[in-house]
Amino acid sequence: MSELNDLYQSVILDHNKRPRNRRRLPTATRVATGDNPTCGDQCTVFLRMESTSAAAAAGGRIAEITFEGSGCAISQASASLMTTQIKGKTPAEAAAIFAEFADIVKTGNAPEEFSELAAFAGVHAFPARIKCATLAWHAALEALKQPDKIPELAAAPATDSGLRTPDSGVWTQDSGPRTQGQGQDFGL
Ligand code: ZN
Repeated sequence: MSELNDLYQSVILDHNKRPRNRRRLPTATRVATGDNPTCGDQCTVFLRMESTSAAAAAGGRIAEITFEGSGCAISQASASLMTTQIKGKTPAEAAAIFAEFADIVKTGNAPEEFSELAAFAGVHAFPARIKCATLAWHAALEALKQPDKIPELAAAPATDSGLRTPDSGVWTQDSGPRTQGQGQDFGL
């Protein structure tokens, strides 16, 4: 195995061991969940844009992005990497980075220079795993298409008991975004 392959292997292992931004984001204004039933992976992406005004939304940047999920090592490492790659980017920039990543995992053609995205180039040899690698990215792009919703913290009603279950709040309402367990198979 080449030194570069060793390096790429360590990138994936590191994202697995120390996932970045793996937490619920109570201030999220957009949430999307994806499922990959063939492997059993699930990923929910929480996202907050810099500005919630309609005019700024189109060109606004991703202020915060986090994820929660379960599944195989590739799906979770890819979710962690995704959050580090698209935070601070506009929706168009995020889509362009995903296009680059999707091309790498589908073709195995990695750029010459080191790129964390290229750590997943080996996935192309295992077509069934491509969905694992792209799951979180599809969920993020889905969230980027949504209109902003009221953040969970701001929307939290005062209940009699004062207790809220982890899944209570805006995300579990019928009209709201999908909650964990109701994700969608993006079909790629
Ligand atoms: Zn998987």
